[in-house]
Amino acid sequence: MHESCGIFGVYSPQEDVARLTFFGLFALQHRGQESAGIATADGQRIRVYTGMGRVANVFTEENLKPLIGHMAIGHNRYSTSGSSNIANAQPLVVSNEDNTLAIAHNGNIINATFLYKELADQGYVFHGSADSEVIANTILSAPGKDMVEKIRHAMHRIKGAYSLVILTPNALYAARDPLGVRPLCIGKVDGGLAIASETCGLDHIGAEFVREIQPDEIVRINENGLQSYPGDSKERGLCIFEYIYFARPDSVINGKLLYPARQAMGAGLAREYPVDADIVMGVPDSATAAATGYARESGIPVVDGLIKNRYVGRTFIEPEQRMRDLGVKLKFNPLPQVLEGERCVVVDDSIVRGTTTPSVIRMLRKAGAKEVHMRICAPPIKFPCFFGVDMATRAELIAAQKSIEQIREYIGADSLGYLSIDGLIKAVDLPRENFCLACFTGEYPIPVQLEMDKLALETMGAGKPVDACDAIEDK
Ligand code: SF4
Repeated sequence: MHESCGIFGVYSPQEDVARLTFFGLFALQHRGQESAGIATADGQRIRVYTGMGRVANVFTEENLKPLIGHMAIGHNRYSTSGSSNIANAQPLVVSNEDNTLAIAHNGNIINATFLYKELADQGYVFHGSADSEVIANTILSAPGKDMVEKIRHAMHRIKGAYSLVILTPNALYAARDPLGVRPLCIGKVDGGLAIASETCGLDHIGAEFVREIQPDEIVRINENGLQSYPGDSKERGLCIFEYIYFARPDSVINGKLLYPARQAMGAGLAREYPVDADIVMGVPDSATAAATGYARESGIPVVDGLIKNRYVGRTFIEPEQRMRDLGVKLKFNPLPQVLEGERCVVVDDSIVRGTTTPSVIRMLRKAGAKEVHMRICAPPIKFPCFFGVDMATRAELIAAQKSIEQIREYIGADSLGYLSIDGLIKAVDLPRENFCLACFTGEYPIPVQLEMDKLALETMGAGKPVDACDAIEDK
């Protein structure tokens, strides 16, 4: 399972906003590693630079320098709609005869094909195939006397998950969909304000957390400070996977720090699935906190039995067959001295397709583990996600195809326990109604078509694939 995207924005006449955005994106790198980009505005023009890869690979002193202005937005992408290519790298800059805007989007909208067709019929040309470009053009084409009215009008038409930062030549805007599926927060920097997907993006630039942007809220930031335009949506649907896996454990969402919430998931697993064992370990890094929670609740000592190569990321160089056969060896290395002869509880965040877990278990057994008891922080994932998480199709989800006992046998564990939905809700300590739980229950907060396709807009002809061509665009 992969993260969605990370977005960042800043308004500060006192700061080098492109540099600040670089470091904001650097802190949000875990949310997407396929492409990165920054757009700035100086009251007259928007400048943008995007490239494929991680933010540290895309930006240099040379290409950051021309990004002048007093406000900026930035984006780290993991593709959940449209291919991974430079045409879909964000921020996207779009314009019509009246307006120009740059947009960075986290989420997925579910009526993109309908809106795309309507916009294409009106003569809007699409340079890429991501739903984010549909959002941008829906805003551009919306009626309204100012940008806030246009964004609000577009929000009535766009269905799905979207946290947005939007830049015009003279203001910075941010908005969150009516359910608040993806997080977004505001912080204070010297002489201005910053917006980030997660609070860790604020912490790393020395910004002080102010508050979260509310679901259905639009904010505008300019020389007059921050103006808020709340919406009237009462329903909530924050993605529970932000708590389980996506967001960093040092981020705060809905007033809750994620680290203790993950510990509580582990403690819940220890109560729901106790087992006689010698050691507890987490699959690093996302299940480390949950493993400490399991250990504390069960009294079984926690150890590091698997070491993760921290520099594993997306690579375009395919390993040769012999290396491919080694599977997850590229990512993890077991510690035989710790595992030899031990009965191990292994805590992981989730099982999606079930392709990684068998190799992890094989690796642990080969390193000497006598028993492997898998404990999973998420309930069985039986339904795909349409709200910004690249998960799998229903046919690929192992829990949609097999019973828990069949999964245990397939992954080769001595026992297997998934945290219950009630246990998960207890761990996050917020009302169940606040969350989207659709990948466990199939009850989507907005009706979806189960056959929706990540490349749907490409199929309809949007955005011809282009060669990588990093370039400064002046609009
Ligand atoms: S379906 Fe699952 S992964 Fe997608 S938003 Fe809902 S809880 Fe998150």
